[in-house]
Amino acid sequence: MKSSILIIYTGGTIGMKTDPETGALVPFDFSGIYDEFPSLKRLNVDIDVLTMNPVIDSSNVSPQNWIELAGIIRDNYPRYDGFVVLHGTDTMSYTASALSFMLENLSKPVVFTGSQIPIGVLRTDGRENLITAIEIAGAQLAGRPVVPEVSLYFQNRLFRANRTSKRSAEALSAFRSYNYPPLAEVGVNIAYNLPAILRPEDSSPQLHVATRLSDGIAVVKLFPGLDERTLRAMLSAEELRGVVLETFGAGNAPTSEWFLRALEETIARGVIVLNITQCGEGKVSMELYETGLRLQKIGVVSGYDMTTEAAVAKLMYVLGKELSVGETRALLRRPLKGEFTA
Ligand code: ASP
Repeated sequence: MKSSILIIYTGGTIGMKTDPETGALVPFDFSGIYDEFPSLKRLNVDIDVLTMNPVIDSSNVSPQNWIELAGIIRDNYPRYDGFVVLHGTDTMSYTASALSFMLENLSKPVVFTGSQIPIGVLRTDGRENLITAIEIAGAQLAGRPVVPEVSLYFQNRLFRANRTSKRSAEALSAFRSYNYPPLAEVGVNIAYNLPAILRPEDSSPQLHVATRLSDGIAVVKLFPGLDERTLRAMLSAEELRGVVLETFGAGNAPTSEWFLRALEETIARGVIVLNITQCGEGKVSMELYETGLRLQKIGVVSGYDMTTEAAVAKLMYVLGKELSVGETRALLRRPLKGEFTA
């Protein structure tokens, strides 16, 4: 049986083509996708296209757009076997990480992709990214979807979305997943890494979409020379609810009294401080050095090997649930969608 796929175009470079008359880049109309790529008809899938209004450069994306996108997936969930989300590359990992948390009990594929070169330019990487993303979203094994989670496909690799970061503004392989292996590698064939893919439980409950995301999130990146006044100014924001603290190496930070006191006072106000490392690869182990242990003692929560993108999205999602501080911390300590390895 043919799979049916909904392509949701949100904006970004992938949706551009050259106007033959003016030579300028203009938006590509994805509803004419079969005219543009007749070869798509050879895939064993039925495709519908939905274009968001307005389409945006992904640097303008906001949590409100994530809520809208999640709502579109919820409303169309019964009708389609899988979803392909076309998104600008700049913030794709943030959106895809957020959706991975917001789509609770997801049991169908949601594949994000985009391109570095517009789809209407001869040398585009968008054509292959799009076609393979569609194929992955429709892939079934024994009547079940092969990749029933939120993933990101780019340049021959399929990743768990909440493990990715944009790592290059130049290379066609723009995304990396430093701490989790690809879910699939694409060559002549698509080689799925089945043990690495999340499986919904057999009696998986209905899809539920979380539509409340918290604001008041800050990312504080440590550097030698960060002074007390600047740090305190950042931490004293009135509506602050969560801080992603980007620390050194294995989760280390200065042991100066003023620094620890500033953090301790912030935590005492009920603000969550989540520790992730500035290193792309490896994880936070606060018990390893005195400089990490002090953070642990004052109540900083370990984010292990989470990306900044996943940490921001998870804080917005978990704090959006308005739970007690204890329940919030408990959810942060658990991988909810495979976003970290402890
Ligand atoms: N600025 C574009 C965007 O993120 C870049 C891209 O799509 O690659 O929307």
